[in-house]
Amino acid sequence: MKTFKGLVIREASRGESSKSITVLCAEYGVIDIFVRSGMKSLKSSSATQVFSYSVFCADEKKDSRGRVNYYLNSAEPVNIFYRIRLDVKKTALASYFADLLCYSRIENSDCSEVLKLTLNSLYFLDQGTREPDLLKSVFEFRLLCELGFRPYLVGCNHCYAYESDIMHFNFKTGLLECEKCCRNPDSIFDYRLDRTLLYIVRYIALTDYSKLFNFKLSDAYLKKLADFTEKFTGYYFTNDFETLRFYKII
Ligand SMILES: [Zn+2]
Repeated sequence: MKTFKGLVIREASRGESSKSITVLCAEYGVIDIFVRSGMKSLKSSSATQVFSYSVFCADEKKDSRGRVNYYLNSAEPVNIFYRIRLDVKKTALASYFADLLCYSRIENSDCSEVLKLTLNSLYFLDQGTREPDLLKSVFEFRLLCELGFRPYLVGCNHCYAYESDIMHFNFKTGLLECEKCCRNPDSIFDYRLDRTLLYIVRYIALTDYSKLFNFKLSDAYLKKLADFTEKFTGYYFTNDFETLRFYKII
């Protein structure tokens, strides 16, 4: 039996009254836990609903192929982020976060940074103290950084210039080039970052979690940032996320 904290990112019914839940936890990454039909206590039903952060107690069983399956024993909620469920736009955004996490399918690895990012994002979404569009961009870009796709943002890859009026970022190489050194500015992977946008992008990639969400942007830069982070995410995660389309039309 194992006890661990985790965030429910998906629920799926299994038969008439059983279900399985997909949980992000620091120790094991994204795992599926089977919830038997008998577990109907109020505590475990709120602890196992989507976007609940809970303490889980689960049995591990290996199937014939050696794959570990988890069966829930008990669950107790720590934070159920209930305000997210009361708001369609917030629910849509949290569902998009969950889709990105399910798509990345991180297994058997230390996911404490990814969990920290997700819990922080949901906290501010739940509290309503940050623009949802800002949370979306920070989550998209920082998630990919934490998954190992953090680009090299220190300076121009050739002359080491820290900044120029326009810096070229290449999605394919993950490198920065200044205006003078840029070798292939017409590439479909080329993205032009002005000084402010580069500053924001560096901030999101590198700042400590205690300060990561402590900034505000004008509408113009929120839009520019969203364009960059969506294209960056789209380069690595080629899926067309329905939850993102839904979020955008609300
Ligand atoms: Zn240069």
